[in-house]
Amino acid sequence: MIAIIGAGPAGTNLAYLLAKAGKEVAVFEEHSEVGSPVQCTGIITHSIDRFVKLPQKVIANKCGRVVVVSKNKRIDARVSEIVMWRNLFDRFMAERAVDAGAKLFLNHQFFGFDGKNKIKIKDKKNNKTKEIAAGDIVGADGPSSAVGKAAGIGRKFDFYIGMQAKVRLSMDMNEFETYFSNKDFPEFFGWAVPESEKIARLGLGARANAKELFYRLIKKRTGKEEVLCWESGIFPIHNPKQVIQKGNVYLIGDAASHVKATTGGGIIPSIKAGYTLADCIVRKKDYQKAFMLQSGKELRLHLKIRKMLNRFTDSDYDYLLGLMDSEKVKNVLDKYDRDTPIPLVLNLIMKEPRFLKYVRFAL
Ligand SMILES: Cc1cc2nc3c(=O)[nH]c(=O)nc-3n(C[C@H](O)[C@H](O)[C@H](O)COP(=O)(O)OP(=O)(O)OC[C@H]3O[C@@H](n4cnc5c(N)ncnc54)[C@H](O)[C@@H]3O)c2cc1C
Repeated sequence: MIAIIGAGPAGTNLAYLLAKAGKEVAVFEEHSEVGSPVQCTGIITHSIDRFVKLPQKVIANKCGRVVVVSKNKRIDARVSEIVMWRNLFDRFMAERAVDAGAKLFLNHQFFGFDGKNKIKIKDKKNNKTKEIAAGDIVGADGPSSAVGKAAGIGRKFDFYIGMQAKVRLSMDMNEFETYFSNKDFPEFFGWAVPESEKIARLGLGARANAKELFYRLIKKRTGKEEVLCWESGIFPIHNPKQVIQKGNVYLIGDAASHVKATTGGGIIPSIKAGYTLADCIVRKKDYQKAFMLQSGKELRLHLKIRKMLNRFTDSDYDYLLGLMDSEKVKNVLDKYDRDTPIPLVLNLIMKEPRFLKYVRFAL
């Protein structure tokens, strides 16, 4: 049996793929339901179509335009983004895994591993602990991965605080906003994403003072400090040196820092990694190597761009937005998305050679 710890998208997508390949799979989730609490904006590119066909019920909104704001500039560009109901998406992914034959155990919390093939699970509903035998053990248990720690391959990555809340804000439903400024969003950026006509997901990433920065943002953007509900969490910064396999223990998703360092987005990278890991388990291949081959370059490119952006001044952002504000660049942004960063960056340079000033740091 393959034991997967965590019923987020990384765990349930992998469970689906392994069950479809005829493997016996059990997913253990510590919460009483899948998809709650939500700690995510739920915005993804159409690259998801390569991996999962989303049912209509998980889609809250679609945005065809992004507005990018820096200290002295404001531009917009065509995009094609999906805003999901993240709780419904997680439930859909879990149902898909169960329909394919995986077993799902809610209220079941992983808390230990004997170093070979027995895991310790607490059944929280009945307040009982159990030892369960598993041939392979997968930590899909988020950025604080207990599986990683128990296997001696715990977190080797840093993280950002993702401070986000639902707020009352009427926006154009077809566009979301991103904000770049050294004072208000040091080392990351802020966002406002409409989920309905009157409610938006407002947030920012920060290394420190996240709450203070958030209240500055909410006041500026909505004129009030009213929070409808918090959806905050942490997002890992990808570390290419993170060990993701030790014997029969594997890490995937946030537990493995499979996240785009430019945006904090981890849904598509963790789903893509699921294809790699399922294949490695079925064919007994080296997951660490296979992951590096299939996703390593992309995530390293995001990391390099993040490191470069972290050195930007406000005038660097103004200049960058100036370069982006041309039809030839907007056409590239329309055609390639951040989940295909290598062709995106190469095409940007071809269409606007002044991008070379930045991308030589990143390639
Ligand atoms: C504020 C914020 C906004 C974000 N916005 C976006 C976005 O717009 N787009 C995007 O692509 N990404 C976004 N992300 C990142 C995205 O949410 C994660 O990358 C994604 O959820 C990773 O999926 P996962 O399955 O690896 O982990 P998770 O979704 O965290 O799932 C892990 C699961 O493991 C369970 N678990 C943990 N420990 C145990 C244990 N000991 N035993 C049993 N179960 C356990 C948890 O309960 C959870 O269900 C955002 C993150 C934050 C914090």
